[in-house]
Amino acid sequence: SDLPPSTLPAAAGWGLFLDLDGTLCGYRDDPADVALTPRLRALLARLAARLDGAVCILSGRSAADLQRLLDGLPLPQVAEHGGAGIAELDAGYRVQLDAVEAALREIAAANPGTWVERKPSSCVLHYRAAAGRAECLRTAVMPLLPAHPALRLLQGVFVYEFAARGRDKGTALTAQMQRAPFAGRVPVAVGDDVTDEDAFAAAAALQGFGVAVGPRVSASARFGLADADAVEEWIAGLVGDGHASR
Ligand SMILES: [Mg+2]
Repeated sequence: SDLPPSTLPAAAGWGLFLDLDGTLCGYRDDPADVALTPRLRALLARLAARLDGAVCILSGRSAADLQRLLDGLPLPQVAEHGGAGIAELDAGYRVQLDAVEAALREIAAANPGTWVERKPSSCVLHYRAAAGRAECLRTAVMPLLPAHPALRLLQGVFVYEFAARGRDKGTALTAQMQRAPFAGRVPVAVGDDVTDEDAFAAAAALQGFGVAVGPRVSASARFGLADADAVEEWIAGLVGDGHASR
C-alpha cells in the first residue's frame, strides 16, 4: 500500500493516535518484555511538542501497563481499546466479565502454552506459544459470547480478548477528537491489528486517515508501513530527524 505523507502539514495539524504493540514496538513472547527505546521516547516527545500535545497512545493494554511502559512520557493514553473504567462503573458488566475469566482459566488449564490476562475491564486468552491450536481455541471460546451479551470478542495477534461491547478504538478516537488538544485537528490512526480497523474507520469518518502497519491487509487504512522500525523512521522524518542523525 502507499506510504503515508512524510511531512507534517503546515495547516490543519494532525491529531495522531498510535497503537503500541506491533506499531511502536515489535512483539515479544512475553508482553512484559516490550519497552520503548530511548530514541523512540525522544522522537515521541518531539512529535508531541510539534503537534501541541495531540499525540495519543491508543492501546489494548491496561492503564497500569501503559503507565509503566511510557514511564513519565507525557502523552494522553487510552487503555483497554477504550473500554477502561467500564467494569468499575457497571456491576452487571463485571459479573459477566468475571464469569468469562473463570471459563477462560479452565480453557487455559487444559491447553499448555496458553495463559489468561485479566485487565480491569477485559479478559484475554494469550496463545502465542500455542499458535497451532488457534482454531481449536477459537471453537472453545466462541460459546462464551451468547451467554455474556455485554461482551464482544476481539481476535487479535495471538489473543482472544473479551471486552466491552460498544467500546472500541473507533469510539475512543471519536471521543478524544471532541476534546483539546485534538479538537479541530485531522485524525491520523496508526496500528497493526484488526482492533485498529475501528480507529482507521473513525479517523476516515472525521476526514482523517489510517496507516496500517505490517503485512495484514487492511480494510480501512489509506496508507501502510512495513513494520515498527518503519513507523519509527516515519516519525523521525516527521520531526526532521532522519537516518543521517541516527
Ligand atoms: Mg498492535
